[in-house]
Amino acid sequence: MERLFSNAPIMAKNDEVRRGLWDLARAHRIMELEGHNDMSLGHCSMRDPWDRGVWLKRGNLGLEEVQEEDFILIDFEGNVLGGSGVRHLEWPIHTELLRARPEANFVCHTHPLYATLFSATREKLLPLTNEGAWFSIPPPHYLTTSDLIDTVELGRDLAKCLGKAEAVFLRNHGMCVVGADVKQMTLAAIFLEKACRAQIILAQSGLKHSAPPKAEIDKKRKTIYPVRAQNNFWDYYNRRLDRKERAEERRLSGGAIPDRGEYR
Ligand SMILES: [Zn+2]
Repeated sequence: MERLFSNAPIMAKNDEVRRGLWDLARAHRIMELEGHNDMSLGHCSMRDPWDRGVWLKRGNLGLEEVQEEDFILIDFEGNVLGGSGVRHLEWPIHTELLRARPEANFVCHTHPLYATLFSATREKLLPLTNEGAWFSIPPPHYLTTSDLIDTVELGRDLAKCLGKAEAVFLRNHGMCVVGADVKQMTLAAIFLEKACRAQIILAQSGLKHSAPPKAEIDKKRKTIYPVRAQNNFWDYYNRRLDRKERAEERRLSGGAIPDRGEYR
């Protein structure tokens, strides 16, 4: 219980922080369901609503293990201001992407299989399925290094490569996405992996294929992914997470826990 309350004084500055971290913890666990898990690697972050810095998942935890108390607050120089636990070495990804993109409030870096395989190529991501239409700019490939982004200079360099895009591939390593809110960050991460999977499978098939024209994709982005739909998809993924976690709890308790909704 000590760990549970160790962040409480700084988290509880207002409900916005607490609610934000609750959602961000769930976003980690949702991504685990969608192929983003890689041992204890991968981390997402939230800009502090009180401008104190960035809330970053603490190290040495798998995505499916992250709860609302598992975040540390760092400033934009990487100093730990609150919370306990290990600071991920790649913290500059978060500070520099958020510094470069004031409209973004959430950043995610993970190593999902298909997006990571795609990062080993120089291919342009095509909107072959609906998921690809999320991205208004084909996610660029960051080529400077395949190693950790563990300095401010590399973080800045990565932010420059990302530019105005929603996502960026890290060469032979993984991917990053940004979002204005937790829903956009989570959907971007899920859709990037799905779009890469579709393109890789099609390429493997040897079948002739094509993507719709740009004007149609620009229209699709508005018809398929308005805020209303983003909310619906976020709710869906949360219900899916609840079903999985409740089933797991029931299994562990020998069926003693009744099946009821947790989210909302
Ligand atoms: Zn990484």
